[in-house]
Amino acid sequence: MNILIMGPAGSGKGTMSEYIVSEYNIPHISTGDMLRENVKNKTELGKQAKILMDQGKLVPDEVVNGMVKERLQQDDCQNGFLMDGYPRTLNQAEALEAICNELNKPIEKVINLEVNFDALADRITGRRVCSNCKATYHIKNNRPKVDDICDHCGSKLVQRSDDTVEQLKVRLSEHEKNTKPALDMYSKKGIVVNIDASVAPNEVWNSIKDALGKAS
Ligand code: AMP
Repeated sequence: MNILIMGPAGSGKGTMSEYIVSEYNIPHISTGDMLRENVKNKTELGKQAKILMDQGKLVPDEVVNGMVKERLQQDDCQNGFLMDGYPRTLNQAEALEAICNELNKPIEKVINLEVNFDALADRITGRRVCSNCKATYHIKNNRPKVDDICDHCGSKLVQRSDDTVEQLKVRLSEHEKNTKPALDMYSKKGIVVNIDASVAPNEVWNSIKDALGKAS
């Protein structure tokens, strides 16, 4: 199945993506992770993207559209994929439509996670991410067995430089201004499922399974 997961920063896209890819055995394509990989490897693209990412601003559409087109042509996307953090603008949504038409991989379902501001702020500031395998934790709700160490691979946990309340506000207004029109495009096609993601992770996951079950 070809799935998009959408929702503002801190809505739980990363955690739910882990569940979805393991249940459906499809690759997780996160433009945020791809960009952070470029930043880590200090590529030219990474150096330019970091300045925007640290301000909570969007990287130019041409850059991410190109990255996604290349990624969707790889062999592991044959039987479906989960796209996370893309499209974030109407322009990106239209570019993705063109790419999907060309590759004959139509988007079948859009999972839209909805959460209020206070809950988002709490999640964002407490989030810790493994510097190696990208597993996510929370200092209150999802602690690692040993403080600051990843349960899966033993690497150090870090806080993303854009995981602050100030950046959250910027990212939410970006989301409202840019991503909402993309979501509206998919709503008109009748493939969006809105999920209340302010509840416990297992409840969110049950709602997602229901939504995807109906789609298959
Ligand atoms: P994320 O991990 O999805 O929250 O993305 C982190 C940051 O990477 C965002 O705040 C943007 O600066 C950048 N980014 C990720 N995906 C995109 C995208 N589809 N378009 C533009 N910028 C993006």
